[in-house]
Amino acid sequence: MIRNDRHHPCDMTDRYFVEPAISGDTAVLAGPEAHHLTHVKRARPGARVTLFDGSGAEFPAEVRTIGRGEVVLSVLGRDEIDRESPIELTLAVSLPKGDRQRWLVEKCTELGVSGIVPLITTRSVVQPGPQAAKRLARAVIEASKQCGRNRLLAIRDAQGWADFVASPVACDRFNTLRLVAHPAATTTPMDLLGAGLPDRVLLAVGPEGGFTPEEVELALAAGWRAIDLGPRILRIETAAVLLSGLVTLSGSSGRPSR
Ligand code: SAM
Repeated sequence: MIRNDRHHPCDMTDRYFVEPAISGDTAVLAGPEAHHLTHVKRARPGARVTLFDGSGAEFPAEVRTIGRGEVVLSVLGRDEIDRESPIELTLAVSLPKGDRQRWLVEKCTELGVSGIVPLITTRSVVQPGPQAAKRLARAVIEASKQCGRNRLLAIRDAQGWADFVASPVACDRFNTLRLVAHPAATTTPMDLLGAGLPDRVLLAVGPEGGFTPEEVELALAAGWRAIDLGPRILRIETAAVLLSGLVTLSGSSGRPSR
């Protein structure tokens, strides 16, 4: 059966991200969003588009004027449309280098991951700085435009593994399933995911050189479960996307109400 749903992202007009949050009946696009509308999509005054501001809503709008680097739009309405996963999924990951980092963030946005914590581990090679954080924030916006998310995946501050494992969010053993991907583990995702998931899941994926035995031990002592992702060694981003996809699909017994 094919769903006939006017809120499905396939049926939407082009989407643009607005900052700060929309509060009245006028919105202004600037920077890359204005460039996209004007020079890539070649929209003209009168064109209908969809705006979102990360608040969870989206806004039908009409282009009023197009200036140098700035587009003014009339906001025509506000629709609360929830395309989030029912599971609050946080991925703590030792980020790979360069384009692979961007790919990882893009795919996690599409999959509905709520937040990413860049991990600093013994064998991490990338220490995310402010420039990288900016590029990743942009990747989140672009992926959200494409996939229809109205809330932005949050890129959190980088944290050391020991601090992260001891942090309040990682210690909530009663309401949160905490999984660390580790090739030597004996538990598989299927052992855990079929049984129904809590509302919150934390995943951890290590660096190219893997977590050290001490780092794995630290997590196990804090009550995390180590899981194996099969007989092949996956790159960081493959492991992260595979695991995130398994969790979001396991948690989506139904679509959120629209
Ligand atoms: N030689 C490293 C090791 O033994 O951990 C491989 C590291 S792998 C390139 C990067 C990260 O992806 C790992 O730290 C782990 O979190 C995850 N990973 C990759 N393949 C995996 C697998 N088959 N099972 C579980 N985790 C895996």
